[in-house]
Amino acid sequence: MNHIAHWIGGAETAGTSGRVGPVFNPATGEQIASVDLANAAEIDAAVEAAKAAARGWREASLSKRSAVLFKFRELLASRTGELSAIVTREHGKVLADAAGEVARGLENVEFATGIPHLMKGNFSEQAATGVDVYSIRQPLGVVAGITPFNFPAMVPLWMCATAIASGNAFVLKPSEKDPSAALWLARLWQEAGLPDGVFTVVNGDKEAVDAILVHPDVAAVSFVGSTPIARYIYETGTSHGKRVQALGGAKNHMIVLPDAELDAAADAAISAGYGAAGERCMAISVVVAVGEIADPLVEAIAARLPKIKIGDGTDPASEMGPLISAQHRDKVAGYIEAGATQGATVVADGRADDLPKDGFFLGATLLDNVTPEMTVYTDEIFGPVLSVVRVDTYAEALQLVNDNEYGNGTAIFTRDGGAARQFQFDVNAGMVGVNVPIPVPVAYYSFGGWKASLFGDTHMYGPDGIHFYTRSKVVTSRWPDPGTSSVDLGFPQTR
Ligand code: NAD
Repeated sequence: MNHIAHWIGGAETAGTSGRVGPVFNPATGEQIASVDLANAAEIDAAVEAAKAAARGWREASLSKRSAVLFKFRELLASRTGELSAIVTREHGKVLADAAGEVARGLENVEFATGIPHLMKGNFSEQAATGVDVYSIRQPLGVVAGITPFNFPAMVPLWMCATAIASGNAFVLKPSEKDPSAALWLARLWQEAGLPDGVFTVVNGDKEAVDAILVHPDVAAVSFVGSTPIARYIYETGTSHGKRVQALGGAKNHMIVLPDAELDAAADAAISAGYGAAGERCMAISVVVAVGEIADPLVEAIAARLPKIKIGDGTDPASEMGPLISAQHRDKVAGYIEAGATQGATVVADGRADDLPKDGFFLGATLLDNVTPEMTVYTDEIFGPVLSVVRVDTYAEALQLVNDNEYGNGTAIFTRDGGAARQFQFDVNAGMVGVNVPIPVPVAYYSFGGWKASLFGDTHMYGPDGIHFYTRSKVVTSRWPDPGTSSVDLGFPQTR
């Protein structure tokens, strides 16, 4: 069986804690690898190596850093297939989806190639007589990223491209459920010419995370994962003097107004609700049907469900793969049961689908007449379960979104520009789609939610990423009066 170690100081480094975790192929249910789980001493060694590398990397010129990013971009673009296969093997999502994830991560690398421009400060000449004031941005040193299982390639790339381009050394603690993508990225960075130690991978669980959160030489922590852990990371990291950006869970609503284009809305609900088996932080979990569109919309979504091909993600015919683990599949199935018991109408029950028994599969489920008290509404399910809530007016739909604990993404489907603009103005969420169900910002904007979907004030990647991974310094300078200069400046005759 495959064994997955750490990557410290530019080399694969076997764990010493004696603790390992299992890695499964979710499509077959088989354990395919074991992964080392780091303890505090191993985190210490990793941070020490990163700290040593950070000094030199900070001194590398902007053009040198940019050249490494360009090379990394070229390698990643030409070997997307390799990384996608790794993602599919350990995560389960279908290959096309894994390739999409890599493509979105690649955008962040492309953004970071522009680092010479992105790091520019400001300059004010003659702020006072003979006095100039200017600002520069400098890296923080060693920064860490802690990432979730559901985007094992993209989320690390959200963080590391900008962190490294800005001149930091980056320590990644990927999800222990699908850690191989991180190791693959480490090798690619090395091939691209990144000095050893600037990109580090330490595998592990809570023990490793806790050691990162209190380590005195880790200046900043970027986290993406569930809300309870995001809150914990934010509170613990900041109380140990670190910058922290912690992105949490979600419960994304898609409002469909009566004038929406029915087929487009139904297609969007299918792709955003069931893509990656619903294991996306931007997945649509709740469709809010306003007024008379509810019946035809539910009918249109239900008609599309039997056409979704569920199977092993490596089969090009598959459109939806398994869930990450048997426990998670059972938890999601439990929500379907709870929804039925609490009074929702089960339009399609994914538990009844005829699916491969060994993998962690669950069919696409559609629940209608869901109400805000039901657990399928209150909880983040993170599986292929779409709930339809029926309301009479736009105002009621908006209220639902704004009352929700989470505020990651949301979308409105309508042909009315005025309604869409009003929604964009009114809604309490960080990312808004207008006839776009999954409004993940392009890399030159930043990604982040509101409310319990984000702890901290900085969104991830893009301009916020540069801001997060650098600190500003302002210099006020005065030089001697030109008339007293040791060099003959021809002063004051030439003026
Ligand atoms: P998770 O919170 O269980 O794990 C995330 C990371 O935290 C992993 O690296 C894990 O090892 C670590 N971790 C887990 N428990 C911990 C603990 N008790 N103490 C310290 N560290 C711990 O999340 P997950 O199940 O891997 O990912 C799914 C979740 O991530 C969902 O809630 C999803 O919405 C969220 N997510 C959010 C975004 C976003 O951008 N907001 C993006 C992707 C995923």
